[in-house]
Amino acid sequence: MDTTGPDTARSDTAGPDAVRLDTALREERAARARSLVERMAGERIAAVAVTFVDTAGVTRVKGVPLGAFEHAAAWGVGATPVFDAFGADDSIAATAVANPTGDLRLLPDLDRLVALAAQPGWAWAPADRWTQEGAPHPGCARLLAARTVDRLAAAGLTARAAFEVEWVVYRGTDGEPEPAAPGPAYGMTRLVELSDFAVDLLRALAAEGVDVRQFHPEYTPSQFELSVAPEAPVDAADTAVLVRTTIRGVAARHGLAVSFAPSVADPGVGNGGHLHLSLSRDGRNVFSGGPGRFGLTPEAEAFTAGILRRLPALLAVGAPSVASYLRLLPSHWAGAYACWGRENREAALRLVTGSQGEETTAANVEVKCVDQAANPYLLVAAVLAAGLAGLEEGGPLPEPVHADPAGLSDDERARLGAQRLPTDLATAAAAFAAEPALTAAFGPALTETLLAVRRAEAEAHGGRTPAEIIAATRWRW
Ligand code: GLU
Ligand code: MG
Repeated sequence: MDTTGPDTARSDTAGPDAVRLDTALREERAARARSLVERMAGERIAAVAVTFVDTAGVTRVKGVPLGAFEHAAAWGVGATPVFDAFGADDSIAATAVANPTGDLRLLPDLDRLVALAAQPGWAWAPADRWTQEGAPHPGCARLLAARTVDRLAAAGLTARAAFEVEWVVYRGTDGEPEPAAPGPAYGMTRLVELSDFAVDLLRALAAEGVDVRQFHPEYTPSQFELSVAPEAPVDAADTAVLVRTTIRGVAARHGLAVSFAPSVADPGVGNGGHLHLSLSRDGRNVFSGGPGRFGLTPEAEAFTAGILRRLPALLAVGAPSVASYLRLLPSHWAGAYACWGRENREAALRLVTGSQGEETTAANVEVKCVDQAANPYLLVAAVLAAGLAGLEEGGPLPEPVHADPAGLSDDERARLGAQRLPTDLATAAAAFAAEPALTAAFGPALTETLLAVRRAEAEAHGGRTPAEIIAATRWRW
């Protein structure tokens, strides 16, 4: 992973809590929006899709016609706070926010505005959510991610992040859908089967300014994966939303349907949403050039150990669906054991060092046990908060694991501390509730909402077979 290069522009609204939406800021935003509207009109754009991701990981949208965009940029677009309590199935969990009163304002990030290449006439901008009083909404995942990045900056550290995207392509959405590219895993056959789709996708992402590093057919029938260059964490989460929207858009133009759901077949390997992270201090990647194992610095070890210790709790954010636990199985490359290892694809934390000579730009840690039902903003916030807690605690990583933990004896696993991660959502939610570094970072309101949404999801799927869970969740993210 490349850890150099400038960060792309940070959200102008994603500042610290002290920022308020006052008249001066609104006027500045209106003026910027006016020139953007002029440019978009020249590009024949008719409307902007303003999105945010809810607690259950679903991207929700309000469309704003071009003529109304300047007002939306200054004053926001209305959205009920009830969205925070939405489940992936659109049910509403019983929480304090689940009442019909109140309003929030979606403020499109003007720096991230981009024409959607697969949806001609549409542009897209991710939103931060503010109150009508001009204060940050405590439940806004994107603002939480930005605040957590600020906490890292206060510690003198800069993070770079990238989400891997995996998805399965189908011919339609009826019943048990037909895989569109049944050729062999990683096979050139599969690329031929969906050649036009694939090239249109890569062109669309290039037109949107997404820096794609690799695209390949994955293990599961008709599954593909795409990886992108690392960016500042909030930008990486935005990119995850944009990439998935674009994949879906290009697929629709080819009469295809796509699923990003954690599990698409039982038994089978699912769709992961691995998160790569590196840290630098004074421009130097702390995951390389240090005196520790594989060149780790004490700081990188402490940061990674903070994440490792909190993996069960992090699953409530990163594996937030009942379907996530159909994916998170031993020997499925999903990282079902709490351990770390260099290039170990069965460890929940895979250390990537890069090849000899490129370590300083390539070294990073990959969180593998997470999937794309996760809200990417909440996930970067949670993982960074866990890493920050690790930095405060200090101390090295335990012994690395160089094998598939599932193949080790119970004694050997116990000696290495490689515990099986939670096997159900309720256990992960309980671990989150008991983890002060995460509940403090999320704050009481968001913690309560997150737990309520997770419990409602666990209850809704209670008693369902894996096949029923897959059928109920395949098209939700
Ligand atoms: N599809 C696997 C998962 O569920 C990941 C495969 C890989 O890229 O290693 O996470
Ligand atoms: Mg993969």
